[in-house]
Amino acid sequence: MRECPGGYYCRAAIVNLSRGDWEEVGLDPHLFEEFTGGRGLAIALLYNALKIDSAALVAAASPLVATGYPMANRLTLAFISPLTGTVAWANTGGYASPALKRAGFDALVIIGESKTPVYILVSQGKISIEDANSLWGLDSLEATRELRHRHGDVRVLTIGPAGENGVRFATVINDTGRSSGVRHGVGLVLGAKRVKSIVLAGGEAKPRPADKPKLIATARAAHEKIRRSSLLNRESGLLAVHGTPIALDALAAAEAVPHMNYRTPVVRGWEKLSAAAMEKEILAGRLTCSACPVSCRRDTMGSRLSFRTEGPDYAQISSLGTNASLLDVEKVAYLTSLSYRLGVDPIEAGNILAIYAEISELDGLGGEGLEWGDFARMEELLRLTAHREGVGEVLAGGARELASRFGRPEVLTDVKGITLQNADPRVEKAWGLVNAVESFGGAAHIWVYGDIVASFKQLGVESRVDWSFEPEKTAKAVYERQLLVATVDSLQTCAFSSYALGWEDYSAALSAATGFKVAPEDLRSSAALILDLERVVNEEVGVDHRHDSLPPRFAEEPVPEGRNKGAVADISDMLEAYYQARGIPEGRLDRERRREVLAATSLAKLR
Ligand code: SF4
Repeated sequence: MRECPGGYYCRAAIVNLSRGDWEEVGLDPHLFEEFTGGRGLAIALLYNALKIDSAALVAAASPLVATGYPMANRLTLAFISPLTGTVAWANTGGYASPALKRAGFDALVIIGESKTPVYILVSQGKISIEDANSLWGLDSLEATRELRHRHGDVRVLTIGPAGENGVRFATVINDTGRSSGVRHGVGLVLGAKRVKSIVLAGGEAKPRPADKPKLIATARAAHEKIRRSSLLNRESGLLAVHGTPIALDALAAAEAVPHMNYRTPVVRGWEKLSAAAMEKEILAGRLTCSACPVSCRRDTMGSRLSFRTEGPDYAQISSLGTNASLLDVEKVAYLTSLSYRLGVDPIEAGNILAIYAEISELDGLGGEGLEWGDFARMEELLRLTAHREGVGEVLAGGARELASRFGRPEVLTDVKGITLQNADPRVEKAWGLVNAVESFGGAAHIWVYGDIVASFKQLGVESRVDWSFEPEKTAKAVYERQLLVATVDSLQTCAFSSYALGWEDYSAALSAATGFKVAPEDLRSSAALILDLERVVNEEVGVDHRHDSLPPRFAEEPVPEGRNKGAVADISDMLEAYYQARGIPEGRLDRERRREVLAATSLAKLR
């Protein structure tokens, strides 16, 4: 058997909740030549775990995490989404992933269902399944506080009431206030297993890089590039200083912001939600993630509404804020923090409330419904949703269930069952394409895909697209960016690192950490393998190229006003060009490629 490569332990844990025990499994060292870590490793393990449990959940880190490499701190959670029925993965930053690595595991595979509420404690190379009866029913902040009281300075991933009560867009809260990249109902996956929390207590384990001096040298070079970045420099970078809310300036100027359930991309008064408004009214400080010199996260405080929280990020500003027509930054921050406490994905929640506001207007629901931007009613509806009470029962089912219950399919703004976030695809057409073709549906994160967002030129992002959105060029740009995102998601470097670093930097870091000779082309092949495997998983659960489309709101309804008046998101030419660029004519993998993908994935067999 080949020796375990640097940066890995070649060790995962299978936690079996039905049996109430866990076992250690060795991971084949050859697996890491195909799937580096993070997203790739998690999806490969998930593919195999689904044969044991169709509701399996995998958490995975990478060989760069906990080595000090800048911005390498993400944890990937992979699962089949209860909201979309597709493969789904969530990326969360902070400090959880290093704690998993320090506990001595590359990955956790959680299968089965507990009869009673439990939490999973991962500490010092061991796992225990603990009683969580007294935590069940607590909100995410209360649960985290209680777990820290019991276990000290630990990292806590927890669900709130929404995950316990079956909300299909329930999320997992990472250390009290972060769920930005955790969409697709992962909170319900845990809740259905009766897992309240995963507590990562770390340990003494340290991933040993294959070539430490080289890794230090690549880390130094990366730090220098980050320091020189006009977006990431801690003192002067636009993203670092203003956080993700700076996106609103660019998208509002281009008239590309989701507003009133995407009826229009023109928002009058958007300045009330801008980064400048946030800084003036609610900013208390900046937060960061492990090994990150950028510090883009926002620590906020509301004096009128009396709360302290993290965020909102642009994604919440453009869902709970502009899309639901609530133009008050303190109120949006408050609803973001309430979503965190309840364990609801605030992005999906904001977009679903926007759908409900439109239905309320169309059907004259009056006091039973929601008026645009009615803060008090939004707060009430969030609580009702988390507890599945009253109309919250319908809202908790997600966008498609809501539209169907009211017989209003025309209000839908989703792809594959999850709503689009951040930008109107009738204006930002490459954004429409990437959301249509992503295996996990319309939940791509805009800052991650910044170089296919034409408005972002204004922020100094080097763009791969221009406003003509010529099909071939746009399709290639989208696929290129997907490959890069799949790579950073696998290395577990925050995707924002890609605004300063590129293929050469990532391959040098991975080579130094693992001892593999990794060229940029190898990284691209691994990324293509991940994207193709995600398509294979989807096909096996009944989702294929026929689902790569945008709803009529974007594809047929023209922008009603402003500089983009008349624009629609007709992506048919781009879609064809995209399949060509990716080498999957008609959106399907041919037999030989499918065999290759499955052969690589079989290295992640769990038994
Ligand atoms: S750039 Fe922001 S989100 Fe990314 S690692 Fe740094 S603080 Fe975290």
